[in-house]
Amino acid sequence: MDSQAVRSAMVERLRALGGMDSAVLESMQRVPRHLFLEPGLAAQAYLDNALPIGHGQTISKPSVVARAASVLLQALGGRPARVLEIGTGCGYQAAVLAGVADEVYSIERIRALHELARRNLRALRLPNLRLLLGDGMLGAPGGAPFDAVISAAAGEQAPPAWLEQLRPGGVLLAPLGQPQRLTAMRKLGGGRVESWSVEDARFVPLKSGVL
Ligand code: SAH
Repeated sequence: MDSQAVRSAMVERLRALGGMDSAVLESMQRVPRHLFLEPGLAAQAYLDNALPIGHGQTISKPSVVARAASVLLQALGGRPARVLEIGTGCGYQAAVLAGVADEVYSIERIRALHELARRNLRALRLPNLRLLLGDGMLGAPGGAPFDAVISAAAGEQAPPAWLEQLRPGGVLLAPLGQPQRLTAMRKLGGGRVESWSVEDARFVPLKSGVL
C-alpha cells in the first residue's frame, strides 16, 4: 500500500466536507492511520469508518477526528498550548492532536488500550504527547490548566473536573446527552460557561474507574 497517496486522497475527501482547519488536515496527512489498526483491518484504514480496536472500543472515523480538532482550533483562534484528550483508545486522535498543539495529555481507563497506544505511538516519536492511565472523568490535575479538553467518549453531562481544569477562555468539546450531540463549551470568567451544539454524534460511553 502506498500509504502517502491513499492518505492524500482521504485528506482531500475531508477537505471537501468543508470547514476543516488546514493545520489539522496537514497533521492527518502525516499520521499513518493504518499503524493504529490490527493487520486485518489496515486495508480499511483510509475509508471514513470507525473500526474495532478491541475491548469493545473503536477508533474514531477520520471525519469525526478532523471535525473535532478543527472546531477546537477555530474556537481557540489558533494553536493550543496544552490539550487534554479523554479516551486515548489506540492513540490515533492523540497523534493528530500532537501535530496541532504544543503539548497533549491523553488519558485512557483501560490498561490494555493504554499499552496498545503506547506501542502504536512509539515509532512516531511524538515528544509532546503524554499518555496517562486513569479515570478521565477526573481530568488530569497534574497537567492543568488546559486550553482545551476533548472527549472521545460520551456522557450525559461534562464531569465538573473538565471545566475546572480549563483555563479561562479554554474550550471543552465532548459528545453529550441522549441522543448524543457533539457539544462545545467555553469557560468564561466568574463561573460562567458559553455552550453550543456542533453536530450529531455516536461515541462509545464514558465510564468511571480504571480496568
Ligand atoms: N481517541 C480514540 C477513540 C477511542 S474510543 C481514537 O483516536 O480513535 C474512546 C475511548 O474512551 C475508549 O478507549 C474508552 O475506553 C475510553 N474511555 C471511556 N471512559 C473513559 C474515562 N472515564 N477515562 C478515560 N478513558 C475513557
